[in-house]
Amino acid sequence: MDPDIPYLLLTPGPLSTTRTVRQAMLHDYSTWDVDYNAQVNELRQRLIRLATIESGVEETGHLEDYTAVLMQGSGTFAVEATIGSAVPPTGKVLVISNGKYGARLAEIVRRLQIPLVEYIQPEVSPPDLTELRAKLEADPEITHVTMVHCETTTGMLNPAAEVGRIVKETGRVYIVDAMSSFAGYPMSMETLSADYLISSANKCIEGVPGFGFIIARRDLLERTKGWARSLSFDLYDQWQEMEKNHGKFRYTSPTHVVLACLQALHELTQEGGIVARHARYTENQRTLVEGLRKIGLQTLLPDEYQSVIITSVLYPDSENFSFPNFYDRMKSKRFVLYPGKVSDADTFRVGNIGHVYPDDIRLLVKTIRETLVEMGVDLPETGA
Ligand SMILES: *Cc1c(COP(=O)(O)O)cnc(C)c1O
Repeated sequence: MDPDIPYLLLTPGPLSTTRTVRQAMLHDYSTWDVDYNAQVNELRQRLIRLATIESGVEETGHLEDYTAVLMQGSGTFAVEATIGSAVPPTGKVLVISNGKYGARLAEIVRRLQIPLVEYIQPEVSPPDLTELRAKLEADPEITHVTMVHCETTTGMLNPAAEVGRIVKETGRVYIVDAMSSFAGYPMSMETLSADYLISSANKCIEGVPGFGFIIARRDLLERTKGWARSLSFDLYDQWQEMEKNHGKFRYTSPTHVVLACLQALHELTQEGGIVARHARYTENQRTLVEGLRKIGLQTLLPDEYQSVIITSVLYPDSENFSFPNFYDRMKSKRFVLYPGKVSDADTFRVGNIGHVYPDDIRLLVKTIRETLVEMGVDLPETGA
């Protein structure tokens, strides 16, 4: 752990960043500056590469078929811009959901007053592909399908590529919320069959919060002129401004955040790209779960559905355990955990993403054990 940080964030964004990413922000630029806008365009190019030829998978697709748009705000703003702009006035959206972020996709569609079909699954179950196909075949009015890839509510990794295949076979447009997984899992637009893929600066890219981005199929985005349901969230307009004015944002640009993101992308390359980053997260997650099980704690999800991004941990079965108390004690020992969000189980969450390494996770598990002992929680240890 960096000695200069107050604590390590084990949260899925904002997350712990490197000192060099934070230092990259020590420069004030204007939204109009040509040197700055050249960096915005460099960033867009790098994002497209990460979703295609540097995605770490074999089936990459062609760089020039895709484009990237940055959108000010948190990740949700980018999702809302995409749904509000990519769906035509006559469109109808099928939302697949098994968690709070999936439910948020549906809420966005509802607020935009776009016709909606929801396919809701329990939080610990992936969508059933046969049922999904039947729903799509039964309703020809559905034009777009959207789903969260890694459902950050639980840590579930949804079968985005399998869903994508069905969406394509039934002739719909596919919008993937890959907010918490992009750059943390090898995947390309091609392998997912994604038409729009959304993520943000402050998740697996390991930058700081301030904008989201959309990788889109260029030929589809070109057809969306005038469809946006609001001014600020007009993806097409933002794209046109970036294309025609050499990387300029419409309205004030999150300049410092862009610089931090570019630095974070350099560091991703130095690490060895997405494949190496995925390997580190995998090792973090494996170390975490092995350690927790040794001290007698259990995870929410079956291992087969568990992503390497974030893990939901069941509360220990003890009346001496209270999460706020546990959280405060852990924070004073320089670990910030994430509260649970699952509806019908008491959990807290541990994120593996950010500037976090297996040694940090080993120290974390040791600290969790000490803290629970301090609190008087009896652990059914299985041998530490
Ligand atoms: C983080 C996240 C978002 C966006 O959340 P914001 O708080 O708006 O940044 C959306 N979907 C998923 C799956 C996420 O993990």
